[in-house]
Order: sequence, then C-alpha cells, then structure tokens
Amino acid sequence: MSIKFLDLQQINLAYQQEIEERILQTFRSGWYLLGNEVKNFETNLAQYIGAKHAIGVANGLDALRLILRGYIELGIMQKGDEIIVPANTYIASILAISDNGLIPVLAEPDLDTYNIDIHKIEDKITDKTKGIMIVHLYGQVVFSDALKSLAQKYNLKIIEDNAQAIGAEWNGIKTGNLGDAAGFSFYPGKNLGALGDAGAVTTHDAELANAIRALANYGSHKKYVNIYQGLNSRLDEIQAAVLDVKLQYIDKENQRRREIAEQYVKNIKNDAVTLPNLPQNKKEHVWHLFVIRTENRDKLQQYLTENGVQTLIHYPIPPHKQEAYKDWNDLSFPITEKIHKEVLSLPISPIMSDEEVKKVIEVVNQF
Ligand SMILES: *Cc1c(COP(=O)(O)O)cnc(C)c1O
Repeated sequence: MSIKFLDLQQINLAYQQEIEERILQTFRSGWYLLGNEVKNFETNLAQYIGAKHAIGVANGLDALRLILRGYIELGIMQKGDEIIVPANTYIASILAISDNGLIPVLAEPDLDTYNIDIHKIEDKITDKTKGIMIVHLYGQVVFSDALKSLAQKYNLKIIEDNAQAIGAEWNGIKTGNLGDAAGFSFYPGKNLGALGDAGAVTTHDAELANAIRALANYGSHKKYVNIYQGLNSRLDEIQAAVLDVKLQYIDKENQRRREIAEQYVKNIKNDAVTLPNLPQNKKEHVWHLFVIRTENRDKLQQYLTENGVQTLIHYPIPPHKQEAYKDWNDLSFPITEKIHKEVLSLPISPIMSDEEVKKVIEVVNQF
C-alpha cells in the first residue's frame, strides 16, 4: 500500500456528479465572469463565515494584496507603513504586504503552535505600524482577547490570512470573521479547493468591500468608468460553481481531518518525533496540514518514502532566507529557522481510510 500526500482526484471524485452538473450548467449558460454563480457563492461563503461581505477574487495572494490595497485607497494606510506578520508563514502573506509598498515586520512564532507569538507583537509596534497580519497556519486559529485589545490600543487593522483554516472557530466565531478583513485561498490543495486558482475576501467593512470589488475589476464599478488603477482579479463562474458545491461538505471534511489528527496524536509513539498539540477546543483546528518535528527530518522523510508514505515540507526555506528578500538574509529568527529545519507534513485528507492512517502510524513508529 502506497499513500499519496494528497490525492486531489479522489477528493474531487467524491462530488463528481454534483460538480459535473454545475459545470455543465455554467458552460451552457454562456455567462462566464461576474454572474450568478459568483454571486451565489459569495452569499453562501459570507453566510458560512458569518461575515457581512464576501468578494470572490482570482487567488489567495490577490485576496491579501487587495485588502491592503483597499486600505491604501481608503487612506487608512500609505506606502512605507508597517504591517506585522509572522516570520514563519508561506511567503504569499509577506508578498502581499511588500507588493503594496508596505513594510513587512517579521515576528517570531510560538514553538507550540507554529503561529505568531502574540506576546512578541507589541515590541514591534512603531508610529508606522498600521496592521497585524495573522496567519492561521496549518489550519490552527491564532487569536486572543489580548490581540484584540492590542489592535484597539494602537489602532491597528487585523488582517487574517485564512488560506489554510476555513471552517476553524474561536469562541464560536469563524476564522475570516475574527479581524477586520480576511483573505481566503481556494488553491486545489487547500481544505476548500477549486479546480484551479481561486480566492476570496471577507470583511464586515462595507467601504473596504466596495473598494476591493472595484479594485479586482480594473478599478471599476461601472463598465468603462474607472475610479482606481485596479487590477484584473476576478473569480471565474466555473470555479465559483465548483466551490459552491464543495462548501456544503467542508464541515464534514474538516471533521474527518480532526479524526485522523487525533488518531495520529494518540498512536504515534516515537521519541525522535514531536507531535502537534491538539487544541483543547477542537474547533480551533481544521488540520490543513499535520506537521511533526524531528531533528532527523531528512532521514525520516527518506524512510517514509521508502516505505510508501509520501510527505512534504511546509516550508523548507523561511521567507527571510529567500533570495526574493535578500536584504533580510542576515536577520536571525531562531525559532522560525528551527521550525523550517525540523518540520515534516504527514498525509492528512478527508478521503484517507483508517487502514492508510494506521499504516502511516506504523511506519513512523518503526523509524
Ligand atoms: C496558499 C496560501 C496563500 C496563497 O494562496 P494562493 O491561492 O495560492 O495565491 C497565502 N497564504 C497562505 C498561508 C497560504 O497557504
């Protein structure tokens, strides 16, 4: 038995009939952009998240870029302002900031959750700080009343990078509705995955929503009337139709991910391996990734490969060590660097069978 890290074909085949019907309907409708499918999905996503507004966009990076660009257009931020962001994140969170001429200010994560350490944020706040971008990394919520108070005290926007945590909840509030605005990715491998690129923004802020809607469509609300120097970042009708089908099943799928994570935590017993912590409130994690840590990461990965278990590394090089951010290469973020050296992601997906889960456990335990 060989276990793929993620079998997108099987994940989507679970909804084959419904998805094919909706794609065919869209095909036959003759309307492929900014139509009823997108409107429908936006309404259903906003309702699911509990947000006032949802705007479909082309991908997750654009969702985050457009939020910040929206704040710039509304005069709430300006070029040169600073946004605090975890040093341990997928590079897209940081690209969204620097792409807008804003300055990413990196903060170390907490080794227990891999998420930004809320206690290390206040030290980073200056006169130029206008926002905190939190990233619910690997599917786990990072939020607290202390963070909310800090944002209020310094008048900072909280922007959620919710690419990995759709469906997660904190105190009964869904991620995507915790801060001022949130970016979602529906990249095929995300918990809610399209059949290509797709993304969305949610927010309670009508002005921001309005600005983003125009910015994503050439800066225009009305055809050929341009109020911003916008971009083209629209969600396709076909992708919206597919997402609307899959949104119905996201809670069920996240629940299966939780079951698998619990099996792993309960049954993986190997002193060389540090397991992720199960949060006390199960709803705070949707297990986009199940990430373990070991000093022998490369050896463990090789051993798993040889024994038919495919794994991936999220992520092998931290953003501050990337050539793309040369100026930061000499900065030191020891916790972030340790994480990048030691992490390994085991297969976790809603279609994995109990036998497959058992096999992964056995192979890790034998290492
Ligand atoms: C996937 C991802 C993004 C970017 O989403 P795309 O749809 O690929 O552009 C941003 N942030 C995080 C944390 C992600 O995992």
